[in-house]
Amino acid sequence: MKFDLHTHHFRCGHADGNIRDYVEAGIAAGLSVIGISDHTPYFGNPEEHPFPHIAMAKKEFGNYVEEVLKLKQEYEGQIDVLLGIESDYFPAHAETYRQVLSQYPFDYIIGSVHSVNEVSIFNKKRWKSLTDEQRVADKETYYALIRESARSGMFQILGHIDAMKGNYPAFSDIPAAEAIDDTLQVIADNGVAIEINTSGKTKLSGGWYPSDSILERALHFGVDVTFGSDAHTPLRVADEWDDVAARLKEIGFTEWVYYKNKQRIAVPL
Ligand SMILES: [Zn+2]
Ligand SMILES: [Zn+2]
Repeated sequence: MKFDLHTHHFRCGHADGNIRDYVEAGIAAGLSVIGISDHTPYFGNPEEHPFPHIAMAKKEFGNYVEEVLKLKQEYEGQIDVLLGIESDYFPAHAETYRQVLSQYPFDYIIGSVHSVNEVSIFNKKRWKSLTDEQRVADKETYYALIRESARSGMFQILGHIDAMKGNYPAFSDIPAAEAIDDTLQVIADNGVAIEINTSGKTKLSGGWYPSDSILERALHFGVDVTFGSDAHTPLRVADEWDDVAARLKEIGFTEWVYYKNKQRIAVPL
């Protein structure tokens, strides 16, 4: 039973295609379940559309939800279309996000840390003038934010938990094993899943988020796992699904999960 919970579309300003294109791509890829999970608008920013190439305008949010719900009905019996969202996690605005998101019937919410100390995690320049100690500190701050997002109770799934390596592959070698173990423990304790996100191939790091070594630790701590292609083009829907399933089995996982109506559904691997 194949599923993909992480897909985008044109509204965010940096993805191709409309939602229907992703649903159709899901059917073509043999998915039983496709989750649509575009980026949240910047709810904490006073402007209507502050970053048109990063996220949709606030006024588009209702249209987004409505469109997914319509497609859910239209495709019933063919493919299960789930209403998701990839929410930024900004601690200062968490209550605003919680309040807005609670007004819509999401099947699940992916919580993603996209900035650390107010700089994008994908910004290569952020590492340039840092000492070794400062690099360790930034990595630890990233994982502290992920722990906070897990404890917030806002999310069913945490997005791409080592994506800081995306444009800075050396990130994986910055020593912070304890921070990662603490984070996985908190994630497990809070009953939140992590995704295996196959979009690392679109960045300098290549590979998946998170790395196999983190997945091995995740199994040890009893963390649930799910799948997300993070497709920004319909061509990437379900990308590398079979490889991920095979790798998870090798590591020792026996099931993975998806969420519908915020209820956890386990699927044998
Ligand atoms: Zn995106
Ligand atoms: Zn993301």
